[in-house]
Amino acid sequence: MVLKIKNKNKLKIENKNSLNNSNKSQDDIVIECKELNLWYDDAQALIDINMKFKRNEVTAIIGPSGCGKSTLLRCLNRMNDVIEGCRIEGEVLFQGKNLYTKDADIRLNRKKIGMIFQKPNPFPMSIYDNITYGPKIHKIIDDKTLREITERSLKRAVLWEEVQDRLNESAMGLSGGQQQRLCIARALAVEPEILLMDEPTASLDPIATQKIEELIFELKKEWTVIIVTHNMQQAARISDYTGFMYLGKLIEFGNTEQIFENPNNQLTENYITGRFG
Ligand code: ADP
Repeated sequence: MVLKIKNKNKLKIENKNSLNNSNKSQDDIVIECKELNLWYDDAQALIDINMKFKRNEVTAIIGPSGCGKSTLLRCLNRMNDVIEGCRIEGEVLFQGKNLYTKDADIRLNRKKIGMIFQKPNPFPMSIYDNITYGPKIHKIIDDKTLREITERSLKRAVLWEEVQDRLNESAMGLSGGQQQRLCIARALAVEPEILLMDEPTASLDPIATQKIEELIFELKKEWTVIIVTHNMQQAARISDYTGFMYLGKLIEFGNTEQIFENPNNQLTENYITGRFG
């Protein structure tokens, strides 16, 4: 996977591993926003968002600070619910069912739609307890099964080799990059369908960032990844689809290559060529 600067303003992407999307159909849509609007008290933060996310693809959401990227991401697993004064209209369909109905099973949906935050947030407990925390909540108590889940999840997050000898040590002793991979392993331990990532490398050094980016590329073989990033090079490197947001609206959404090389909208072009941001 190579990202080149084609000319001084445009990014050229050569993503050798990119999947061919031409035969993707409606069945491949795992989550979808329909006419989604959101207000924080009187201030509207999301305006008429219609967006479909494809299974086993990485979708990046880009745009300047304050345009609503994190708000949109949080809508995808109802994390805005806890914010006082937040009001939502419209639908988020996960596997065809609206998350925003009274009888929606929020706990099950959060299990299926995991979230990784900007700052790694391991629990102040051992590595093993971090990974098994979710499965135990979901009533898995058998030691052998928990040990298998721990090994599998840490391997999936490419952390097993580094921590297999110290599973009982505190997660707080890991480096920032290891902590973030631990958080990804913890999310994977409950067998989600979708991983939401909100600026997952913003607090990491370049080497740790590269490891997470490589990991995301692996993860999409089994999961759907939706990532908010302010880093356009990162979006270009790792995503299959990109949505550009501005002032609460989804301005343009499409194949990452098209968005970065041949945007349809002038605002998108201005943003990706660095005229504002
Ligand atoms: P981004 O992720 O693109 O930086 P956000 O989704 O964080 O944007 O914010 C979108 C808008 O919503 C901004 O104007 C921000 O100030 C506002 N906002 C975000 N979170 C809250 C909140 N908890 N309460 C009130 N306003 C908020």
